[in-house]
Amino acid sequence: MYCTPEHMIKRITFFLMISATIWVACKEQKSSEQIMTVTGEKPVSEMGVTLPHEHVLVDFIGADSIQPGLYNPDSVFERVLPYLQEIKALGVQTLVECTPAYLGRDVQLLKRLSEASGINLLTNTGYYGAAREKFVPDHAYKETAEQLAQHWIDEWNNGIDGTGIKPGFMKLSADAGPLTDVQKKIMKAGALAHLQTGLTIGVHSGDGNAAREELAIFMENGVAPEAFIWIHAQNEKNFDIFKELASKGAWIEFDYIHPETTEQYIRFLSYMKENNLLHRTLLSHDAGWYDVVNPALPFRGFTSLFNDLIPRMKEEGFTDEEINLLIQKNPTEVFNIRIRKL
Ligand SMILES: [Zn+2]
Repeated sequence: MYCTPEHMIKRITFFLMISATIWVACKEQKSSEQIMTVTGEKPVSEMGVTLPHEHVLVDFIGADSIQPGLYNPDSVFERVLPYLQEIKALGVQTLVECTPAYLGRDVQLLKRLSEASGINLLTNTGYYGAAREKFVPDHAYKETAEQLAQHWIDEWNNGIDGTGIKPGFMKLSADAGPLTDVQKKIMKAGALAHLQTGLTIGVHSGDGNAAREELAIFMENGVAPEAFIWIHAQNEKNFDIFKELASKGAWIEFDYIHPETTEQYIRFLSYMKENNLLHRTLLSHDAGWYDVVNPALPFRGFTSLFNDLIPRMKEEGFTDEEINLLIQKNPTEVFNIRIRKL
C-alpha cells in the first residue's frame, strides 16, 4: 500500500505523542493521590486544611533510656483530645505528628486520638540525628545506610512495631551544618527509603547550611528536591537560602507560629510571595506537646495560625487563594505518597 508523506507525518506524530505520554508517566511514577494516616490509606482529597508539623507527645529522656510505661496513655489521651477538637472546630482536617521513634512516637495513642477527634493524623518513620545525636539508637552507628533504610521500608511495608499502623512520611534531623557522619548516613538512608516507598522526607535542620547539605545528599542519591521538606527554616537568618532551595523544588517550612512570632512570619511570607515561592511554603506551630519528662509543663494549642497569623496576612493583602494554597493545597501536594526521582 502506498504511504503518502502526509500519512508518514501523521504516523510519526502519533508515535511521538505516545512516547512522550509514556515518558511523562514513568518520570512522575504516576501520582498515587493517596496519603497514609494512622487509620489507613486515604485519598488526598480528604486531607483538607492541614497542620504539617505538630506534636502530641515527646519524651526527651534519650535513646539509651527510653522505654514503654513511662506515662499513662489514658491521661495523655484525656489531656490532648480537647486541643484536637478545638482545631477540628476551626476546620482543620489533618495534623502531621512529627515525633520520631526514640523520642516518644506512640502510634496507638495517635490512632485513638484520631478516631475520637475525627482528625486525620500522620505519623512517621526515620531517625532523629540532631540534639548532638541524643536520640540516635546504638544500632545506627554500626549499620550501613542501606540497613537503616531497610528498617524504615519495613515499617512502611508491615506497619510500626506490630501495630499495622504505617508511617505517612519520614522525619529525620540534623543540627546546624556541617553534618556529622551519622547525620549524613541518616540522610542517605532517607534517600534510599524514599526511592522504595515514596514517603516524603521532612528534615529538622539546624540552619540553612544543614538544609543545603541534606538536599545535596538526597540529590546525589537520585531523589528530587520536591520530596524534601526543610523543617524549621525559621532558624535561618539568610532569606536567600530559602530562595536557593525552593527554586530547586524543595519545601520551606516555617513552623513556629506563635502569637509572638506573627510579625516575623509576615516577613517570611512576604519574602516568599515577592519571589513567587508561596507554592513551596508550609506553615505550622511545632506545638503540643505532652512532655513525658515534665508532664506539668503547659500544652501549647494549635490555633495561633487562625487567631493571629491569618488575620494579619489578610491585613497585609494576602488573598484567600494564597492562604488556601499555604494551608491546604501545598500540604496535599507534599504528603501525597509518590516516588520523586531526579
Ligand atoms: Zn517538631
